[in-house]
Amino acid sequence: MVFSSSVFEVKKNVFGFSKIHDTVVFNPFEGQIDTSKMMKRLLLKAIEKGVLVLNNCLVNDFVETGTGVKIETNLYDFSCRKLCIATNGFAAKFIKEPIQPARAQVLITDPIDNLQIRGTFHLDRGFYYFRNIHNRILLGGGRNLNIKGEETTHFGLTQQIQTELEKLLYEVILPSKDVGIAHRWSGIMGVGPQKKPIIKSLSSNVYCGVRLGGMGIAIGANVAKEMVDMVNLD
Ligand SMILES: Cc1cc2nc3c(=O)[nH]c(=O)nc-3n(C[C@H](O)[C@H](O)[C@H](O)COP(=O)(O)OP(=O)(O)OC[C@H]3O[C@@H](n4cnc5c(N)ncnc54)[C@H](O)[C@@H]3O)c2cc1C
Repeated sequence: MVFSSSVFEVKKNVFGFSKIHDTVVFNPFEGQIDTSKMMKRLLLKAIEKGVLVLNNCLVNDFVETGTGVKIETNLYDFSCRKLCIATNGFAAKFIKEPIQPARAQVLITDPIDNLQIRGTFHLDRGFYYFRNIHNRILLGGGRNLNIKGEETTHFGLTQQIQTELEKLLYEVILPSKDVGIAHRWSGIMGVGPQKKPIIKSLSSNVYCGVRLGGMGIAIGANVAKEMVDMVNLD
């Protein structure tokens, strides 16, 4: 048994959501994290360990030299002994594995006085996701409205999906609130026929840990560990 008590429980909709069933399925074990704090900590940890982070440096290609790998970028070329590919939804550029990019569009509201909604919520088979972050609502999803169109590595927003997100926000999540939208953005996930990451050695010097299936915040650290454990530096 993994959990100490039952994972799912049917509860009354006490959140004030409109146009939904009277009850919701509640999971007491699902948590929230502040991903900006997570990224800040990760960067600090990397710097502490002496990892050199090269920003704004696009890898165009790599060539195996026998003893290592030559990396060709938009800025310069450099060589390394081992290459770990962790470009997730962008990985099809380098790897012949079933990996599709999947864009997810998001919005966040202005601060809301007296916001009672606390937690993370999923709707419509997981195609929509929302949560409070402090006193705002962050809402994303709607990829199912245009699956093909959202199979892209280009960041961007579409009228169709943003309109649907707003409809959901104003009609279902916050039906009686007059609140503005502070910011909108998109991110690229890596998905495929199986909801399972691809962690493997592609040659004696090249490895990958990709296709995190929209679960990389939860499973990313383990995927990275499994990948680097394969690297043989002898
Ligand atoms: C809107 C949204 C909501 C999500 N919500 C959740 C959630 O609730 N829970 C959860 O577990 N996961 C969630 N995810 C998924 C999670 O964010 C990803 O699985 C995770 O970020 C993957 O991490 P990664 O480091 O493998 O890839 P990424 O974070 O995508 O990083 C890949 C990096 O590679 C860089 N790159 C790509 N190509 C090149 C190149 N040629 N040269 C140089 N650099 C390159 C990219 O710029 C990027 O910085 C969400 C994703 C999105 C978009």
